[in-house]
Amino acid sequence: MSSGSTGAAVKADCYGLGVDACVPSLRDAGAREFFVAHWSEVEALTKHVDPAKISVLHGPISPLEATFARQAGVVPVINSLSQAKRWIESGGGSCHLMIDTGIHRLGISPAEVTDPIIQSLDIDILMSHLACADEDHLLNGEQLSTFRSCAAAVRSNRRSLANSAGICLGADFHFELTRPGLALYGGVPRAEMAANIRQVAFPQAAIIQTRKLKAGDHVGYNATFTAAQDMPVGVVSLGYADGYLRTWARGGRLESDGNSLNVLGKISMDMIVVDLTNAPHLKEGDWLDLPYALPSASQICGLSQYELLTVLGQRFG
Ligand SMILES: *Cc1c(COP(=O)(O)O)cnc(C)c1O
Repeated sequence: MSSGSTGAAVKADCYGLGVDACVPSLRDAGAREFFVAHWSEVEALTKHVDPAKISVLHGPISPLEATFARQAGVVPVINSLSQAKRWIESGGGSCHLMIDTGIHRLGISPAEVTDPIIQSLDIDILMSHLACADEDHLLNGEQLSTFRSCAAAVRSNRRSLANSAGICLGADFHFELTRPGLALYGGVPRAEMAANIRQVAFPQAAIIQTRKLKAGDHVGYNATFTAAQDMPVGVVSLGYADGYLRTWARGGRLESDGNSLNVLGKISMDMIVVDLTNAPHLKEGDWLDLPYALPSASQICGLSQYELLTVLGQRFG
């Protein structure tokens, strides 16, 4: 039994930041297992890591997927009795097993652990997923104790319970393997960890035109902003197609050298307009920073830290 290793949740293209950009760093930093959600996510990962270290969280819902797992040499997470049966019928072999200890998404129920089909699986990682680890909630302790009893009733090489927030709950939750995602990409799962986690994604966007508004001029679709006085503005190559959703229109701002530039009017698909009053020297071709420290960005726009990462579009280089 190995002890104290870290796996990495790399699903959804590494939470939107890009498999090619992130996975080599995570691998070189010592991540031991790599978790994706979909079978379609496997191929991009095999360029960087040993297929035997790749797990597919959604499991095989058809014989074709079980065959694919075998051919690609990746490991399915078994989430139900029917998946267990399918995996064994396709030839069986090493797999992981998800137990539902209270989140009620994927996983077999604790009562099913003693089912003969489950007992016949060759289980590497026995896992469960915490529902409320980002808050102090009774369910955390309940899930931990249910997970312990399940682990006592079925053979596995390793046990894994904690996501990013779960790691912060202390050593009792760590077992042999942890499965952080959010925290690897700069998200702060619990406030007490803020000092230990640095921002990872620093999105920027370019000014593609500057102009001077006259008092009374409107900006953008539906003319929702009207200039109170003459003002310099910049048209920026950033829009909701890049994941800068309309929820940012209220309170959104970009930054340049410590100058704060308010977003004016509605956010378009490919463009926004920002107030250059605080930095009138800025010109076409200059790059602006999106304030993307995830906890504060989340407070401003109302999206979760997870959403802020995964909405980032393909046009960021
Ligand atoms: C996404 C996911 C993780 C990672 O969760 P974070 O909250 O991002 O750390 C871990 N385990 C499972 C099963 C997941 O689906």
